[in-house]
Amino acid sequence: MLRDNISDDIKKAIKKANMIVIRYSNNQLTNSKPCNQCTDILKKLELKYIYYSNNNVIIKEKVKFLETEHKSQLNRTFYKKYK
Ligand SMILES: [Zn+2]
Repeated sequence: MLRDNISDDIKKAIKKANMIVIRYSNNQLTNSKPCNQCTDILKKLELKYIYYSNNNVIIKEKVKFLETEHKSQLNRTFYKKYK
C-alpha cells in the first residue's frame, strides 16, 4: 500500500539509495538500529543499504537481510497506550 502512492521514478531511485541513522549521546555513538516497524517500511521500499551506529561504530547492513526485534521508545509508548 505504501508503495502504491509512490511514482515509478521515485521507487527506482529509492532502490539505489542508502540510509544513514546515527544516534549520539554523552560523547558516544549509541544504538540507532531501526526498530521493527521502520525495518518493515525500509524493506517494503526496497532500500539498498542501511548504516546505523552502535557502541561507537557504524554498522552497514543490506536492508533485505536486516532483522530486528527492537522496538523504539515511541513504539513501546504507543503500544502501551493504544493496545
Ligand atoms: Zn522505528
